[in-house]
Parts: sequence; C-alpha cells; structure tokens
Amino acid sequence: MERADVEKYRSRIEKASSYGEVWEIVKDTVAESLNQRRAGMMLFLDDLPIKLGAYHPIGTNNIVLNRLLVKAIEASTQSKRVLNALIYNLLLHEYLHALGHLSELKVRQLTYHVAKECFGEDHIVTAIARSSPWALLKGIPLDKNKASERVLEIVKDFEKADRNYIV
Ligand SMILES: [Zn+2]
Repeated sequence: MERADVEKYRSRIEKASSYGEVWEIVKDTVAESLNQRRAGMMLFLDDLPIKLGAYHPIGTNNIVLNRLLVKAIEASTQSKRVLNALIYNLLLHEYLHALGHLSELKVRQLTYHVAKECFGEDHIVTAIARSSPWALLKGIPLDKNKASERVLEIVKDFEKADRNYIV
C-alpha cells in the first residue's frame, strides 16, 4: 500500500467522531486489504461482561458492542485516537466473522494483517490488533459493583444509506 493511503486512513481514524465513521473505515480497509465487503450491517450497544468486546450472532446482520468496555476505555483516555482505534479493532473483528471467517485464530491474524497494511506497524490501531483491546485496560480500576443498565440500544445511521434508495 502506498504511504499516502496509510496517511489517509490514519487521518480518518483520528477525525472519526461516530460509530458510523469508524465503520466506514473498517469497510474500506477490509475492501482494500482483503477485497471483501458486506453491506447492511447493524450495530447495537449493550452492557456485556468486560471480557467480551463485541459479538456477531451468526446468521444475522447484527454486531453487538460492549458499551461497558467502551465506556471504561473512554473514561481512562483523553485520546479520541485511542478510543477510535479500540472501536475500529472491535468492529473489524466482528466484521471479519460476518464475512464468513469463523476461526478466532484466523480472525485475529486477519485483523493484524488489515491493520498493519492500512495503518502501518507503528500505529495504535496495529498495536491493539497485535496485543488485544484489553491491553488498554491494564491499570484501569473497573467498578464491578456498578449496576448495569442492560439496555440494548441501536446505533442510528451506522451504515450510510444505499445510494440506490435515493430517488
Ligand atoms: Zn471472535
């Protein structure tokens, strides 16, 4: 990949300010790196056990992201770049499952492959892909007694509307 393309993806992940924007980067980097794509996914947020980042129920178009984990990282970092890098990694992992890669080992290898190719070896996105999102949680005290909201919410405007629908 050209250096200019790496800079383009780095700049986009830096500026992204919604799940939808990070999602577009996930789809674009996978299309560029693996030549695979899938449209029509939906994102939900739920409070899950902290060890679970996200999941994709097989046979659905859904990704469920762990709101507790995102909030814990958000509270611990002032950096939108770090938070976006975490969300990118979680969404990329589930997107690869949704594309039909079922093996955890394979998905972890592909996550690192895509990250390294599109963001370069020395970027936070790739660092998280190489270790794990939970490396960010080291040293963060988690409030285990906090009552969970357990409200499943849908993320609106996650996928850009298909242009074909615009008459
Ligand atoms: Zn997985």
